[in-house]
Amino acid sequence: MGGVPKQRHTKSRRNKRRSQIFLRSPALVICPHCKKPHLSHTVCRNCGYYQDREIIDVMKKAEKKKKKRAEKGLEPKTEEKEP
Ligand SMILES: [Zn+2]
Repeated sequence: MGGVPKQRHTKSRRNKRRSQIFLRSPALVICPHCKKPHLSHTVCRNCGYYQDREIIDVMKKAEKKKKKRAEKGLEPKTEEKEP
């Protein structure tokens, strides 16, 4: 047989244990570069800056993503407009 409780725990004890079971909201800070909330101690996903330095080239990434989506035929090509 498996573990069998020797004595029952009170409702208070059970409820105290369960009071710690919840989700905590992430620690968000305001980006000094673009003023948008992002996770602390991480690169801002909106502008790609961390500690006043550009870590991720956001525009380059966005263009790459758009190109990939266009290749898959998910997004209509908007850039190739001829006058
Ligand atoms: Zn930012």
